[in-house]
Amino acid sequence: MKNMKVEKAEKLGLCFGVRRAIKLLKETANKYGEIETLGPVAHNRLLVEALVNLGVKPINHLDQAQGKILAITTHGTSPAVLSEIRAHHIHIIDTTCHIVRKAQNAAKELVEAGFDVFIFGDAKHSEVKGLLGWTGDKGIATLNMKQLYSSGKSPSRLGIISQTTQTRSAFIEFARQLMDVVGPKIEEIRLVNTLCKVTQGQQEAAIKLARKSQLMIVIGGGNSANARHLVEICSPLVETHLVETADEVDTSWLVGRHHIGITAGASTPDEAVEELIDKLRSL
Ligand code: SF4
Repeated sequence: MKNMKVEKAEKLGLCFGVRRAIKLLKETANKYGEIETLGPVAHNRLLVEALVNLGVKPINHLDQAQGKILAITTHGTSPAVLSEIRAHHIHIIDTTCHIVRKAQNAAKELVEAGFDVFIFGDAKHSEVKGLLGWTGDKGIATLNMKQLYSSGKSPSRLGIISQTTQTRSAFIEFARQLMDVVGPKIEEIRLVNTLCKVTQGQQEAAIKLARKSQLMIVIGGGNSANARHLVEICSPLVETHLVETADEVDTSWLVGRHHIGITAGASTPDEAVEELIDKLRSL
């Protein structure tokens, strides 16, 4: 494809939180031979497979733990799970990202100050499950306002936080709708901005690139929240596809396109991004 320009977003790919976790896990596996992680390190198959080869094995549930060292992933976990691990006399390597930790602290402090907490996030996502754990029975997590109505909760003091990787526009819209519905009945509302600045920066750079590209390719895991958000925000601007590896690129997407934009989720390994760029440039 003659004269095709392939351009990377100004900010993309592996974030400092995941890089730090990988470093810690590699060092620990190196020292002790093998360690386990509670859930996958990040929502990216390539990354998880590379770490398995270095002795970092994911388990889905504490009951499956075979070793004496268990790592908490960047997504963090609840205080109840931490206590359960300690009760099993398993040593914890905690790689919770400090931005997630900040959100956990916000949830905890809101509850301690007498607030109910609404979390704007996917209740099935491991980070959100952990955040809910820090609210005791005072939290509810959803992406859907209707679910909040049906929960029957009408607190007099309400705290609002977000899953760290949500888009800013969606969080603002959620808070705005919430204010419309419950605002007049409520005594006090506190909104804590728990969004991740790295994710926000990557989303803004993706939008900027999508505006001048004829096609966007997002490289990341299909189960990665932030990779899916990159697709969501680029799609209204230009045709956008999500791939996990360069092999998944369909060359028919490129026909007649001279400017292809590339971005990547926060858990996408650098090599996967470079492989994609090499493949597109070789065409
Ligand atoms: S995306 Fe943000 S919150 Fe998540 S691990 Fe990376 S830096 Fe931390």
